[in-house]
Amino acid sequence: MRRSLLFSSFSLFIILLFSYGLVAQAPSPQSVLGFYPTTDKTIADWGQITDYFAKLDKGSSKVAVKEIGKSTKGRPLIVAFISSPGNIKNLEKYQRISAKLADPRNIVSEKELDELIRTGKTIVSISCSIHSTEIVASQMSMNLAYELATANDPDTKEILENTILLLIPSSNPDGIDIVADWYRKTLGTKSEGTSPPELYHHYAGHDNNRDWFMLNLVETQAITQFYWQEWFPQFVYDVHQQGQNGSRFTIPPFFDPPNPRIPPSLLRDVGLTGYKMAADLQAKNIAGVATNSSYDTWWHGGFRSAPYFHNSIGILSEAASANLMSPTTVTREQLSRGRGRGLNSVLDNATNFPDPWKGGAWRPADIAQIEMTAARSLLQLAAKYRPRFLRNFYDLGKANLTRVKDDPVAFIIPAGQPNAGTVSRFLEILMAQGMEIHEMKQELYVKHEKELPGYHELPLGSFLVFVNQPQKNNVLSLFEKQVYPDRRGANGEAEQPYDVAGWTLPLQMGVEYETIWEIRDLENDRRTLKRVETLDQAREVMNLGPQVEPFAKLANPLKTAPRIGLYKGSGGSMDEGWTRLVFDSFQIPYRSVSEKDMRAGDLPVDVLILPADSENTIFRGLSADRYPAEISGGIGEQGVENLKKFVSNGGKLVCFDDSCALVIKRFELPLKNVVAGLRRNEFYNPGSIVKLEVDRNHALAKEMHENVAAYFTNSSAFEVTAENRVNVVAKYAQKNALLSGWMLGEKFINGKAALVETAYGSGKIVLFGFRPQHRGQSWATFPFIFNALEK
Ligand SMILES: [Zn+2]
Repeated sequence: MRRSLLFSSFSLFIILLFSYGLVAQAPSPQSVLGFYPTTDKTIADWGQITDYFAKLDKGSSKVAVKEIGKSTKGRPLIVAFISSPGNIKNLEKYQRISAKLADPRNIVSEKELDELIRTGKTIVSISCSIHSTEIVASQMSMNLAYELATANDPDTKEILENTILLLIPSSNPDGIDIVADWYRKTLGTKSEGTSPPELYHHYAGHDNNRDWFMLNLVETQAITQFYWQEWFPQFVYDVHQQGQNGSRFTIPPFFDPPNPRIPPSLLRDVGLTGYKMAADLQAKNIAGVATNSSYDTWWHGGFRSAPYFHNSIGILSEAASANLMSPTTVTREQLSRGRGRGLNSVLDNATNFPDPWKGGAWRPADIAQIEMTAARSLLQLAAKYRPRFLRNFYDLGKANLTRVKDDPVAFIIPAGQPNAGTVSRFLEILMAQGMEIHEMKQELYVKHEKELPGYHELPLGSFLVFVNQPQKNNVLSLFEKQVYPDRRGANGEAEQPYDVAGWTLPLQMGVEYETIWEIRDLENDRRTLKRVETLDQAREVMNLGPQVEPFAKLANPLKTAPRIGLYKGSGGSMDEGWTRLVFDSFQIPYRSVSEKDMRAGDLPVDVLILPADSENTIFRGLSADRYPAEISGGIGEQGVENLKKFVSNGGKLVCFDDSCALVIKRFELPLKNVVAGLRRNEFYNPGSIVKLEVDRNHALAKEMHENVAAYFTNSSAFEVTAENRVNVVAKYAQKNALLSGWMLGEKFINGKAALVETAYGSGKIVLFGFRPQHRGQSWATFPFIFNALEK
């Protein structure tokens, strides 16, 4: 009696403490938002998501939320650390352990290593909705966090004890709000569930997941710093959505080809994780899960591919989409169209797809259930085999320190290059991802090429990047020329890679570099080298002043002050966004020119740029079937007529890549794109670096080299049909035009025009057959753009 009385007064006391907020309690998402996230037709914006995580941080000793930077538009970029209360209290300790394991040179003995592995935690990062229309994961992240913070089952306890989860509710907060605003505004209208009519990242849109070695975007910079300078996660899981008609969920193992610089054991662990997820999903009778299809590991620059080059396990999942947060229905007829590489049909079962989904209603909650199951599956694996994953991580870093026959010793960036500013940015990009760079303090004698006899002296002030460092494979993958395997379908046509085929960074940026196979006497005399610890140290060597802030803005290269217009269609164009990024980085003033401006005419600019977009996109724009009339319809006939008037009256029109087609046709220019209409067994180049031969006498080629590396991605090559009317500024090389990547049928473009200028009325038209600012990466050809802008 007495005891139960005591007990009930104690309970009452606790209840009172809770109700006065004196004892913290993890709040449910529903209690904060007023709805259960991932319910049909609900959406939480970034303010609500960060508010929820702040309250969860306050209410749970298992959660700590940290801001790691700001987005492009100034929103907080947050990470929620989720683990046991004891681990959360000691985050710094576990961060130090992970950082030590990432660099085996810091570990002095086997005993120390054993102790680190015994006490360390598996660091797992899950990042949601980098692609903002793939919205469900950002909403699901709140449910996942709440479940981990409150569940008391043995499985959750094991996860919390053995892993530290770094949960990123979205790596693109600006996009969450763009999508949430558009979704709310259009709910119940004909536009409900459509993509917002703008880029969901200010500069990059969908290409924000193409930035992971270049670091053009502040979001990529912040997360790269967090991952590869601070936490060194052993797992990075990037959660995406794909189209509606394919598999319900695609996970690793991935499709071919693999990048040869990914260590085999890492590829195996990627596969292991995917199969664990697949098995756990099947155990819940979730149908439609595909492995070994569509996505490959060739290309380097994605959220889940960068980890491979830091000895981490990178996982991507792609769930079938709904209509943003509105449900959809998928019929068997639609499913009959859903196929991809490695998946001939989603109606029939296969070894990599044993349980086809039958079609029917498909809701955000279905996506969330799959993603939650996959996330927990990964966490469980990381928890159960904690020592194994920590040791593998260490072993990979350790192996990278030993030279392998046939690998070069180092790459050198020789002193005395004319474009020191570009070299500085290049070094900054490498250092920001944790790469080690050395400065030469005394002469070194090296063997440049494998077959060249004798040693050669390197100029003082050169920089060396040694291959044997913990992130060896990143060094190799960024410096080497890619040789994409010649992969064909049954009909002999080229099989499309997942993304581009080649990206060699110094080539793209126009930075001179050399491959070194041997350095004389280096082992005896290390004094000749000094580790470059900061960018300012490197800039001092190049006689550049200190840099005020990371990735600082650059000086405007223009000598004149043209009024620049940049066409911006209503649908949002990634090439337009990247052009803005280049202009903003170089502080070049410009104004955006809308479809409406084009239709109205009288453009108040001297030069107008049409970024790379198809004729159809520019001319027709968004469809009025799904979008409001005021933003649909493209530039139309009236826009084309006004464009002609603009040039006739003395304006300059500059076209990038795809947009050349519309202008050649509508302006009846004496040019023909020789690769248009060729089949993929005749010509194919899905994204490679090619060599240009430049006419240095032309004003557009001012201060350019005779040979320039340019970016070609399903681009154009021109034949001039009336030579007296067209100036050819640059041609694709007569032979050996492919520098890095993959190109079938090179002969079709050898010697063909790549960059031309032609008069039209009193004005001029400049046509770039290639992408002069591809994803803000191809610095080698930026000067062509700057020259084209000058009055
Ligand atoms: Zn995506």
